[in-house]
Amino acid sequence: MKIPQKRTKIVATLGPATSNKDVLLSLIKSGVDVCRLNFSHGKQEDHQKVIDIIREINNKYKTNIGILADLQGPKIRIGLVKDGGINLINGTQIKITTNECIGDDNQIYITYPAFPQDVKAGEVILLDDGKLQMRVVETNRKDTVICEVVHGGILTSRKGVNLPNTKVSIPSLTEEDLVNLDFALANDVEWIGLSFVRKSEDIIDLKRIISRSGKTSRVIAKIEKPEAIDNIDSIIAVTDGVMVARGDLGVECPMQEVPVLQKMIIQKCSKASKPVIVATQMLESMITTPRPTRAEVNDVANSVLDGADAVMLSGETSVGDFPQIVIETMSNIITHVENTSYPYYKNKELDENCPTYMADAVCSSAVFLADKTKAAGIIAMTSSGYTAFQISSQRPKANTYIFTSNRNLLNTLSLLWGVRGFYYDKFDSTDKTISEVNNILKAEKLVESGDVVINTASIPIQKKGKTNMIKVNIID
Ligand code: PGA
Repeated sequence: MKIPQKRTKIVATLGPATSNKDVLLSLIKSGVDVCRLNFSHGKQEDHQKVIDIIREINNKYKTNIGILADLQGPKIRIGLVKDGGINLINGTQIKITTNECIGDDNQIYITYPAFPQDVKAGEVILLDDGKLQMRVVETNRKDTVICEVVHGGILTSRKGVNLPNTKVSIPSLTEEDLVNLDFALANDVEWIGLSFVRKSEDIIDLKRIISRSGKTSRVIAKIEKPEAIDNIDSIIAVTDGVMVARGDLGVECPMQEVPVLQKMIIQKCSKASKPVIVATQMLESMITTPRPTRAEVNDVANSVLDGADAVMLSGETSVGDFPQIVIETMSNIITHVENTSYPYYKNKELDENCPTYMADAVCSSAVFLADKTKAAGIIAMTSSGYTAFQISSQRPKANTYIFTSNRNLLNTLSLLWGVRGFYYDKFDSTDKTISEVNNILKAEKLVESGDVVINTASIPIQKKGKTNMIKVNIID
């Protein structure tokens, strides 16, 4: 199957608009690398159908589409309200209660039992993505909080609540998350996203559950709270990947801070060799129109230039009217930026005290050599994937081809900037293996006679170990 050759990856959220096989196949042909299942919506049986279709496509077309299961985390919502909507009027007071009820002009229910204990007078309550705002007047510290409406409007049922100033005490994984996590692990999804991460322990706890289950799914920390920004270094240190979740981040933090935070998070992830996704409202207007706004085109292009590994689509592909045109548009923007103005290759500073220093030095040297020899490809053998993360994060101009005998890892690596994976399990002598993998790429017309390529591996080749070899080759 011919797929566009771009380095920055596309994550597409699937939903009613994109859950059948033909549509999914057309999206993959247009450039989707990772499919996101949003567990805030949809039933498990619907997610199961989509997972089965993706696995079937991977088998049939030899693609390595990864799956990102996105857990809702400690998302707070209000309950049902009467007549489908109530009018909150500026300056009036309303009670928020933890006793389940149908909301009216007097009181509304909140799905957060410790709300009256956790909030303090003066704190801000944002509803419906920040469209409505209230301020805490007083709390009885038991079951009721009295609030004043600051920016009113119509409030409909089950809208999200953001509490930017409150230290929320809900556990990072709710009961619903644990059920969905079990399901995701049983399906061996490659990436698990956790929403509303606040501190590194949230990620450590999730990773502990994954490792106890004997699975190898990796974790994406969704950065969407001021607390996560405060703890960003320790979160990046323990997570496998990051999402700049601009939807909630732009509600919880002043909106004007988001562009600078996006750049800061991408730079830190690049330094730590952790993939980073930029998410939300990238081509939002395309939910209902087939052409994006110029500002949206700029946003995708600038996220690519910032150095994101992947750009993500939400409503544009899950419920939008033009999912395939959205992917084509995004692929075209990415490809143009990469062909004209991408700042390839960053020579990384290495940390001599890091336990992986030797392997890091080898990977870094391979990318340096590729740059100096204008190599067509860096071809790496890996069993853990470590080499792929290291090479990708240095943004080489040469294409990165990863060979591994771990099929699940191939799908995992689809999220990483510039990485293309191939299955290979005949590890023989070093010379024979290198010549075989180079020939595979030649047969795929990804390299040609006379091309310089840089091969890396760990020798002895049959043993699993850290990358310790670099060879400069010219394709026969
Ligand atoms: P969501 O996360 O789609 O789960 O809301 C993304 C965001 O907040 O930007």
